[in-house]
Amino acid sequence: MTDLAESPAVRRLADWDPADLQSLVGEYGSPLYVLDLERVRQNYRRLEAAFPDAEILYAVKANALGDVLTTLREAGAGLECASAGEVKRALDAGASGDEVHYTAVNPPARDLDWLVDAWRDHPDLTVTAGSEDTIDRLADRGYNGRLCLRVNPGIGAGHHEKVRTGAAAKFGVPAERAVEVLANAADRGFDVVGIHAHVGSGVSSDQLDAHREFVARMGDLARDVSEALGGSGLEFVDVGGGFGVPYREDEEPLELGSVADATREALGELDARLTIEPGRYFVADAGVLLTAVNTVKAARETTVVGVDAGMTTLLRPAMYDAYHPIRNVTVDAAAANGDDGSERERLPQTVAGPICESGDVFCSDRELPKSERGDVLAIGNAGAYGYEMANQYNSRPRPASVVVDGNAVWVSRQREDVEDVIRPERAASDGLKTTPPRGE
Ligand SMILES: *Cc1c(COP(=O)(O)O)cnc(C)c1O
Repeated sequence: MTDLAESPAVRRLADWDPADLQSLVGEYGSPLYVLDLERVRQNYRRLEAAFPDAEILYAVKANALGDVLTTLREAGAGLECASAGEVKRALDAGASGDEVHYTAVNPPARDLDWLVDAWRDHPDLTVTAGSEDTIDRLADRGYNGRLCLRVNPGIGAGHHEKVRTGAAAKFGVPAERAVEVLANAADRGFDVVGIHAHVGSGVSSDQLDAHREFVARMGDLARDVSEALGGSGLEFVDVGGGFGVPYREDEEPLELGSVADATREALGELDARLTIEPGRYFVADAGVLLTAVNTVKAARETTVVGVDAGMTTLLRPAMYDAYHPIRNVTVDAAAANGDDGSERERLPQTVAGPICESGDVFCSDRELPKSERGDVLAIGNAGAYGYEMANQYNSRPRPASVVVDGNAVWVSRQREDVEDVIRPERAASDGLKTTPPRGE
């Protein structure tokens, strides 16, 4: 067995076997998400090697597939959950309470009700509150378990406005109020265990100074809180996730070693354990989205390649202007086979989905081998925030996901059909759903 800590820092779209991908579409249809569990393990091991004494949580929202949760749990990760639904998934995947953190961002009443019930069976789970109201609402329900406070450090990092959460007032209690809020919570009987901040996704090697500054503030705050609490002080300081991955082919992977060194150094002397909770880093390059070409149209300015995946399948390009690498696996599989027909001219193409929105494009004027109807395209780095953000806009059923692990391949999530999309409405009109759920 190879040393997993020594695995490559990034798996590029070009590293996937085109014939394998082509045959997956033959077998399971398209569009199709593919996720390689061995790559997920490799990503975990590299992170673990860089942060040997940190607690590592996986931010479930990046990809909540049960197979991913089980794989990362078995590798040693805890699970950071953003909703009651994710906590349920974590427990279903076999996590024990002490492996589960629930980060409550303006949590709906229904989530808190469910969570506090789950806590009675799993008293070791940790709740991270991002406002004093949330602490009150937990107390109202009788919760006095493990409590962590999400603070807003007033520093943001990230690749796009929408993921820069540190500076956004929505997230966390202003750091300068943390000591008071936590001392109060301790007085009320909560088991205060940690402080937390997540400054956004997409932290990169060239933003190390911002990372250092943020972690240093967290270290200072942890010392202040521990002193105010007395006793054994805090158990952990959670500095969030946001470990960037290179989406562009020419982008360098994150130097985990430098990030780890900077983190340790900036944190300073501390009795509490360091906790990190990346999501994207574990799964992004372990997944691709496969999609078939439906139409090829010469437009005035470009060639538009219409595919069967759209912004409802993979939202990131439409939502964040995110770049994803794209490759024609039909052409590449033919080339690998020595098939001459694979020699196709390269020209700028715009790959677009079937949704009636102008933002429904995966790339504009990108140089690719001339597409033909029936070709399979692979969209790379789709393992994180891909299926998770998929939706049913335009009455589009969500795609299937398959998982690859060594030689084994299985369907981990079935393809939806139109019936799945309209069922809740039909149930309502059939009178099956007579009691509206409690409002928030
Ligand atoms: C989304 C999120 C993460 C993970 O972010 P990545 O960019 O995927 O690493 C971690 N912590 C919290 C609280 C989050 O909301």
